[in-house]
Amino acid sequence: MENILKQYESFNYNSFFENLNLSDIKNIIEKSGDKILDDFEFLALLSPKASTLLESMALKANAITEQYFGKEIHIYAPLYISNICDNECTYCGFKHSNPIKRRHLTFEEIEKEAIYISKTLGIHSIILLTGESCINSIEYLKTSIKILKKYFSTVIIEVQPLSQNEYEILYEAGLDGVTVYQECYHKKTYSKYHLKGNKTDYNYRLETPKRAALANLRAINIGTLFGLGSPVEEAFLAGIHLKYLINNFLRSQFSISLPRIKEAYRNIKPENIVSDKDFVQFLLAYRLAFPMAGINISTRESKNFRDNLLPLGVTKYSAGSVTEVGGYSLSNNSEPQFETDDHRSVQEIVSMLKTNGYQPIFKDWEGAI
Ligand code: SF4
Repeated sequence: MENILKQYESFNYNSFFENLNLSDIKNIIEKSGDKILDDFEFLALLSPKASTLLESMALKANAITEQYFGKEIHIYAPLYISNICDNECTYCGFKHSNPIKRRHLTFEEIEKEAIYISKTLGIHSIILLTGESCINSIEYLKTSIKILKKYFSTVIIEVQPLSQNEYEILYEAGLDGVTVYQECYHKKTYSKYHLKGNKTDYNYRLETPKRAALANLRAINIGTLFGLGSPVEEAFLAGIHLKYLINNFLRSQFSISLPRIKEAYRNIKPENIVSDKDFVQFLLAYRLAFPMAGINISTRESKNFRDNLLPLGVTKYSAGSVTEVGGYSLSNNSEPQFETDDHRSVQEIVSMLKTNGYQPIFKDWEGAI
């Protein structure tokens, strides 16, 4: 993957954008939907000139989404089981040097949270999250997954990058998928934000989705954290990564998320704010360029904004999210990793979806017996 990204290391984005004309972009919008677009067609959709064609992009994105996914939105929730982290990502509240209260759930506590989320909230698809630490041994993750599989049909992890062999062990324990964000595809900028710990290894992280796919995991989600690198370049390189994965690992389903740091948070001011309009353009470009890829929108985004994104290509929606360790059912809660901006309950999300003509999907997978 690194070699593919290298092709674009000294690419002149501005000159490419200057040479585009509106009729080329209109043709790309017109032809999108049947197959994955090539790199430069995709980049054209991310260009400043394409931002004047958002309405046509939105109409096409809506048609493509209904063609491939119908009017279904998959619902999931996150479950944080540890905020202990060995890394020093300058933008994150869980970073090693931050003097917050740390917590690492026991298996009994994980089961209590699982029961609450599945029985009280009615959720069937869960993402298990931790900080990235050697304390999350394979045995700890394996047992946690086995507990969660008693309550959820789909279990995805967002933990430190693992080896293929480790993913294979977790697959045997019932793991369905992995979420791993590169955070920043531009290598030099990546080093600026990731100061200590295993996460300083850019390449090992970059190849994580590939190792997960080689271990047969069926659901793999990637993305960049908007706010760190140059937004258009990051959106583009994340798409190039997605395309590589889709084209090479046919047994897995790939999806992309668009997490963004919106404003100063805990005294961290993002260097590259992504406006709502840019965010919408990126989402539309992903839908047009990668018609069959899933697109996830989390509760980092506000209620109204999330609801407006629904017809534009979204396929997965988090609901009732809590980003504190033990935050659902246990007392003595810890600090959240990031603030959520959509505080609606699962029932409120379900009723909003139904009112808008969407079918909420809680269970999309049943493992073979
Ligand atoms: S982003 Fe992840 S790896 Fe980095 S400090 Fe936060 S929890 Fe740790």
